[in-house]
Formats: sequence, structure tokens, C-alpha cells
Amino acid sequence: MKNWAGNLEYSSADVRRPESVEELASIVAAAPRIKALGSRHSFNRVGDTDGVHVLLDALPQQVEVDAGRGTVRVSGGVSYGALCRTLEDSGVAIHNLASLPHISVAGAVQTGTHGSGVDNPSLAGAVESIDLVRASGEQVRLTRDDGDEFLASVVGIGALGIVTGLELAVRPSFRMRQRVLEDLPWDTALSDFSTIVSSAYSVSLFTDYTGNSINQVWLKALDGEAPLQNLFGATPALRPRHPLPDMSAENCTAQMDEPGLWLDRLPHFRHEFTPSNGDELQSEFILPLEHGPAALQAVRALAADLAPLLFVSEVRTGAADEFWLSPFHRRQSVALHFTWKPLQAEVEAFLPVLEEALRPFGARPHWGKLFTPDGYDWEALYPRFNDFRAFAAGHDPQGKFRNALLDSILGVPARR
Ligand SMILES: Cc1cc2nc3c(=O)[nH]c(=O)nc-3n(C[C@H](O)[C@H](O)[C@H](O)COP(=O)(O)OP(=O)(O)OC[C@H]3O[C@@H](n4cnc5c(N)ncnc54)[C@H](O)[C@@H]3O)c2cc1C
Repeated sequence: MKNWAGNLEYSSADVRRPESVEELASIVAAAPRIKALGSRHSFNRVGDTDGVHVLLDALPQQVEVDAGRGTVRVSGGVSYGALCRTLEDSGVAIHNLASLPHISVAGAVQTGTHGSGVDNPSLAGAVESIDLVRASGEQVRLTRDDGDEFLASVVGIGALGIVTGLELAVRPSFRMRQRVLEDLPWDTALSDFSTIVSSAYSVSLFTDYTGNSINQVWLKALDGEAPLQNLFGATPALRPRHPLPDMSAENCTAQMDEPGLWLDRLPHFRHEFTPSNGDELQSEFILPLEHGPAALQAVRALAADLAPLLFVSEVRTGAADEFWLSPFHRRQSVALHFTWKPLQAEVEAFLPVLEEALRPFGARPHWGKLFTPDGYDWEALYPRFNDFRAFAAGHDPQGKFRNALLDSILGVPARR
């Protein structure tokens, strides 16, 4: 089994597809090493195991809207694309989406996956309750009322249990418009950074860090939101655009201010377009919003070495949250995302240079993308890191849900 990008082959000795949560629980209880996989869109070995991989696609797939509670209960393995269609049929929506809808809800939430918008929390921000199978096989439901247990487990990087279901907050369906601006001068982008990234519900900047201007600004505005008057020296695109300059926009969601539903505007790529695999790699570093301009300058200083490895970089934002291992933990943030060419050795050789440049800004890596785990002072970056470590040791004393990457981050469990 390979991941979506095809840059890694998983090491599992066995793959199981339980048909009930009870069957899953007994597989988990019996296995010395086990991990769940979602839609395999991670680029690193966060989801790998040398034991059993469980896929949740044979479990009963539930998407049940509770209009009274303003929530939807969804099975962990369901993709956002499938979830969104059912939500829209019930006249409700979720607050935000990642760049593409094909990722599983549990896998996305466990790694802190996010869209953009200064006031929009990551996808984990919608979670009201979470159903887990613990290492012992015990089944638990944690809600916001469970405090620390809940805050530790929602963005749990797969270390605290297998997520079989989640309850997500929904809101009434809404409409949006999307427009793309081109050639935003870097000087203005840096001097008016916080105004620009706050100028619509969701804003993304696309750049390769070369030249005097940022290639594209994607603005996703709520239907009633006032249209942007000041374009900050950028020019409106005259036709739909793909984030990569030479690519056709046919697989992108509609632009040019054409009104549409939230689920057809929040992702950059259409749900009908299903890339089965991708010739790309990704990294992303999340840091306090106020450091955005200085961090972008630090990356621009690396442009000569960076640009040849890069398809494009996307700059997004997100609201602070309370989840212990969320990259957005207690910090309204800017996320610097890098879509790399499929040059793994060269990218991995360059990453420490980029990570060193971003270290002064307290950058936290995206858990599902490429980074250099040895280079981080996790306790300094995450105020509740040691508490998370203690929870992981308590709930999974034998390190059933661990792998080499998680051990290098969390330490080797005492009872292995
Ligand atoms: C083309 C592309 C676009 C992307 N866009 C974005 C984006 O816009 N924003 C962003 O933040 N990220 C983005 N990502 C990254 C992606 O969202 C994360 O890697 C996410 O974890 C993928 O979810 P998945 O279901 O594929 O997880 P997997 O890769 O299958 O697993 C990821 C982790 O979650 C764990 N996991 C999976 N399912 C469960 C479960 N049921 N219970 C417990 N643990 C589980 C795995 O063990 C592993 O540790 C993108 C990735 C790709 C390939």
C-alpha cells in the first residue's frame, strides 16, 4: 500500500477491514502494533506501522444530521466530499474545508488539517464529540465536557486511539463568491499583510517567492460580504486561474465572482475531479500571524534555492484553538505551505534550511506533511506537550499506536 503521493510504501504486515466497531475493537485489543489509515493523503510516515493497518471503509458509514443540536454525526472514514453533499441536502454546512475534499474526516482532524481565514479554526474546530477505540479495545465517547481528555484527543496524531466517529458543528448552508487577483506587489503584501489576509472570509496567497510580486491572491467571500474596494496594487484575473501558472483551471472551483454553494467554493479543487495520486510533495509550517511578514521575508531570502524545488507555495491563515497538539494551539496563525516537485531527496536536504529560517518565529510543522522531526523543541512549541505525552503513555502504555516518527516526537514508551 502506498500513500496518495506515492512517495512512501507502508510497512504493515497485515491490513484489516472490520465490518463493525466491535470487530475493530477486538482487532485493536489483540494487535501489538496497529494504526488506522484514512484516505492516505499524508506525505510522511505519521500513519505507518509495522503491525496491522485498519481501514474503516467497511464499517457502516453514517452521516446523520441533527438539526435540533446543530450537528452532524459522521463515521471517521467518510470523506469531506461525501459529507458535504449530504449536509447540503439537509440545508446545512460546515465552517471551512481543506484545499481538496477527498480527505477523510478522522485523518484530517487528527493531523490538524485546515483551510484559510483569520477567524476560521482548523477542521478540528468543528468537533463536538469524538468516538475512539483505545489501545485496550475500550470504546469511549469524548465530548467538550470532558475537558483535557477531549482537548488532547481531537488532534491526536493517531497516538491516542482509532477514531470511529465524530460529531461536528454545522451551520445553515451559505453561498460564496470566489475571485482571483494577480501580481500583488510584495512591498504591499508585507506592509498590509494583516489587512490583506483579513479581507475576505478565506484568503490564500500563491507565490514562488521570486520576483517583486505575489502571483495570485484567492479571495473566498461570503455572499453578503462587501466586495474588496482596495486591490492593494494587484489586478483582477480576467479568466479563471489554477494556482500553478501553466495549468488549466478546468479542475478548479468556479471563480470570477460567480455565486455558488460553500462546498463548491471553499475547496480550490472540484469534488468531481478525483486525483488518484499526485506527483508532488508537501510541507507546511504554522506560526503566529503577527510574524507573517518577517517569516515571508525570511523565506524570500531563500528563493534562489527554494524556487527550483517548488511548484508553488500557499499562504493561509487560521484562528487559534485549544487542542493540545493543534498547530493552531492558542495562536491565531499564518500557515506557509509548500507544494514541492516530486524530488524527495532534494526536498529533504533543503527542509532543514527552511526550518532553521522559520525557527525564530516559533513555526510548528503540519503533522501530515514533510518535516525534520529532530529539529524541534516540542515542549517549547506546545505548552501542553508533556501533558499529551503523559496521556499517550497512560492510554497506550505499550506503544501500540506508535511508529518511528511518533517515537521521535513523543519519545519511546516505557513498557515497549
Ligand atoms: C492533495 C492534498 C491536499 C491537501 N490539502 C490540505 C489542506 O488544504 N490543508 C491541510 O491542512 N492539509 C492538507 N493536506 C494534508 C492532509 O489533509 C493530511 O495529511 C490529512 O491527515 C489527510 O487525511 P487522511 O485521511 O488522508 O489521513 P491519512 O494520511 O490516511 O492518515 C493521517 C494520520 O491520521 C491517522 N488516522 C487516519 N484515520 C484515523 C482514524 N480513523 N483514527 C485515528 N487516526 C487516524 C493516521 O494514522 C495518520 O496518523 C493535503 C494533502 C494532499 C495530498
